[in-house]
Amino acid sequence: MVAQPAGDSSTQLNAGLDYQALERFLVWIRPLQQALSLEVDRGFSNLQGRNERFDSFMQRELGTPPQIPLPGDVPPRLLALAKDFADYASLDDAARRRQVTVVRQWLHALRQRLEPSAPMAPPRLKVAQRSSSSAPSTPAAPGLDSPLAQVKGIGPKLAERLASLGLLLVRDLILHYPRDYVDYSALLRIDALVPGETATIVATVRRCHGFTSPRNPNLSIIELQLQDPTGRIKVTRFLAGKRFSNPSYLHGQTRQYPNGATVAVSGLVKSGPYGISFQDPLIEVMESAQAPLRSSRIGRLLPVYPLTEGLTADRFRSLIERVLPSVRLWPEPLPRGRRDARQLLSRDRALVAIHCPESSDQLQQARHRLVFDEFLLLQLGLMQRRAALKQRSAPSLSSSASDRDGLLGRFLTMLPFEFTAAQQRVLAEIESDLNRQEPMARLVQGDVGSGKTVVAVAALLRAIQAGWQGAMMAPTEVLAEQHYRSLCGWMPALHVTVELLTGSTPQKQRRRILADVASGACKILVGTHALLEDPVAFSRLGLVVVDEQHRFGVRQRNRLLGKGLQPHLLTMTATPIPRTLALSLHGDLDVSQIDELPPGRTPIRTAMITGSNRDEAYDLIRDEVDKGQRAYVVLPLVEESEKMDLRSAVDVHRQLADEVFPDLQVGLLHGRLASADKQAVIRAFASGETKVLVSTTVVEVGVDVPEASVMVIDHADRFGLAQLHQLRGRVGRGAAASHCLLINDSRNPLARQRLEVLVRSTDGFEIAEMDLRLRGPGQVLGTRQSGLPDLALASLADDGSVLEEAREEAADILREDPELRDYAVLRRLLDEQRSRVTSAAQLN
Ligand code: ADP
Ligand code: MG
Repeated sequence: MVAQPAGDSSTQLNAGLDYQALERFLVWIRPLQQALSLEVDRGFSNLQGRNERFDSFMQRELGTPPQIPLPGDVPPRLLALAKDFADYASLDDAARRRQVTVVRQWLHALRQRLEPSAPMAPPRLKVAQRSSSSAPSTPAAPGLDSPLAQVKGIGPKLAERLASLGLLLVRDLILHYPRDYVDYSALLRIDALVPGETATIVATVRRCHGFTSPRNPNLSIIELQLQDPTGRIKVTRFLAGKRFSNPSYLHGQTRQYPNGATVAVSGLVKSGPYGISFQDPLIEVMESAQAPLRSSRIGRLLPVYPLTEGLTADRFRSLIERVLPSVRLWPEPLPRGRRDARQLLSRDRALVAIHCPESSDQLQQARHRLVFDEFLLLQLGLMQRRAALKQRSAPSLSSSASDRDGLLGRFLTMLPFEFTAAQQRVLAEIESDLNRQEPMARLVQGDVGSGKTVVAVAALLRAIQAGWQGAMMAPTEVLAEQHYRSLCGWMPALHVTVELLTGSTPQKQRRRILADVASGACKILVGTHALLEDPVAFSRLGLVVVDEQHRFGVRQRNRLLGKGLQPHLLTMTATPIPRTLALSLHGDLDVSQIDELPPGRTPIRTAMITGSNRDEAYDLIRDEVDKGQRAYVVLPLVEESEKMDLRSAVDVHRQLADEVFPDLQVGLLHGRLASADKQAVIRAFASGETKVLVSTTVVEVGVDVPEASVMVIDHADRFGLAQLHQLRGRVGRGAAASHCLLINDSRNPLARQRLEVLVRSTDGFEIAEMDLRLRGPGQVLGTRQSGLPDLALASLADDGSVLEEAREEAADILREDPELRDYAVLRRLLDEQRSRVTSAAQLN
């Protein structure tokens, strides 16, 4: 059962928490509120966080409020709310929505009770009691933090509906930006109308008549013939529903448009067999052709809002218009001088114009300002974080010029190849970081096979040479084990001890490894990110290498700091990220590129085929295997239905093994296998015992078998381009010419178009750029990657130049005022952003 909302609480006075208690209260409530709004954003999907699901997070957090003097009614209520989440998973969407709404409203009310009212918020109750005498003539605008229920014209029902859309306060409504605009601002003559475009005309009614469709009694039609000095046009309005077929109703409708009346019409121009027409446009009758247009919508850019279930578009627009006067209370983050220098609209004008643009020019400026602010805040946050990081001192890894005779030098001479110029450059960048007093925070980007791993190993040896330990973390056990094995190929000869620690390390061995790590006997520890978990204590951790995708987030860094560690950090990724995305995500990192492949690789030939030509793929596999090569067959793993994917992998494996290649060994690799079994499967494929490996995408990261020369990717349309590119990188590691076949079963032309990018290009950056454009940043990074910035309006695909401007501005502001002493509004916004990011990270 869901408890009732706390609407009754307003009678209670502020509980008067002292400052410290208030801080603790806020630290507790913010992540809760954030989790709730994330859950709303994700459509009540019981969000899966990195560690737990939304429901268990809520249950725990609501059940463990901070130990501060809370009003007596609060703790039992919290317990009841916490209990409600035990059943959350079994509820249907509507019930989940109700429950989330109730809790959101209650927490909001609670926060209002306990938090002293912000100085910015004007006294709320005054709104209704505007005095009639000396009051200013403009109506008092509701405060930005007023609940929508207190806005005149918004009743409890409507407020509840809005709350379920995540709109609780006046500010939420103002920040609910239009998703698009219909351009009614082009006032045209009839002869200038172009089919397919929206336009407004002012014309005279020549004839109007209404009738019910002879074929469909539920459909009535009103037809107008209009004329202006340049031509004529037909306007049709369709009225669906029996009630409209009443003749007297229809007559009443036609009487609104008497012959000779002047009307303004806005809508989409269509062309038909009888010339051009407007269908279901907005029509307004005017006093005369010169009279100003009365309707606020005719002849302008009409905003279109994102899904507002249960609310008509008109209703929603009028709600926005109701709260819009409050924008003048909106705090301005940028001083006048800075705004003028960049020709930015003021924040309040931009907010008004984004909802009610007077022209497309003004809309453009408004959008520019709001996008600028989003990027500015993001970049300020990242730059401050970077600055804070640099203030701490890091392990000193500088070593003498005789380096090259040390571990690192011996390693480099041991390798059967020379570093490419790109590898040398990146290693030099890393070495120069390590020589500094401040901790390195560097991201190395490079295509699959560009040789990132050896560069990372070189960096680790550099740390060990200076007397420190290193850790290497991979996103999966398979990859960790593989790193471990390659390290074992080099380290014993250098007398450097390496250990592997994963979830499947047996207890006894684990204890020994932990002891060696703590004593410093173990120099390099390889594992998954579980390495950061508590029992692992390093003696002298100098460098952490994070391989592939696993962004080393604030949380992980804090965990290390919590252990008194501030090591150098090196992150490596094979998913090249477009610059806008890199700046937004990794603006606090230095970035190095390995933009050159080792010599001797033959480019992979990629082709797209349809499922009905699958036999071509099998023929190719057969040919290559006859030549002594090996092949992957990859199936998509859609995370939501792991079971189904598993089934399809098992089915395909059986079919290939029994029917297609009965004479060959066919392996099967998927995420449900125990780690030891995975290893056995990979080993069999690497040794050539199995020639064909059927796999889900677990093969994506890092599996390295140089003899593999064919990759067939089933349902390629279900993968992202960046991911496909990664997968493709599993072949072409040897000298033999390699092939990648993308099987596309989708009829969707966009899917085809996407896959063609891959057929055409092997440049990871170009592919990532296209992926960003076609699918958006969330998809490019994959759901596993968190920390994607919170951008309402800005597009990482289109607003690159604004991002650069905002980045410059942020740097300039921080140069002038590193603590933002003179920027109270920015400071507050940054605080809010930080608490949002922290709570999102907790849940993600
Ligand atoms: P990445 O991690 O970037 O995908 P790896 O470091 O795993 O790439 O390198 C891929 C393969 O290329 C490995 O077998 C590695 O030993 C080899 N390799 C790395 N650098 C070079 C080089 N400069 N010349 C030749 N082979 C190289
Ligand atoms: Mg690698």
